[in-house]
Amino acid sequence: MLTCEEVIAELANFLDQEISPDDFRQLQIHLSHCSTCRVIYDSTRKTLRIVTESRSFELPEDVSSRMMASIISRITSDAPPKDPTS
Ligand SMILES: [Zn+2]
Repeated sequence: MLTCEEVIAELANFLDQEISPDDFRQLQIHLSHCSTCRVIYDSTRKTLRIVTESRSFELPEDVSSRMMASIISRITSDAPPKDPTS
């Protein structure tokens, strides 16, 4: 079973369609059990789709990756800090 961190890390690869069928299956299994990751996945995918459709071209890979990072950091910044000592 993947952890949430692993899923979020894989999500960027998945959205760039650089994921193996096996990893994709693991991702699907995690998403079916974890509502947090499912929300992140859905909102990220929708945002990317809206941007790409409204501009009628594919985003360059580095742009979509940077957008992913920005979306994920915004979502995860609402979560309680994982390392209270830092
Ligand atoms: Zn999760």
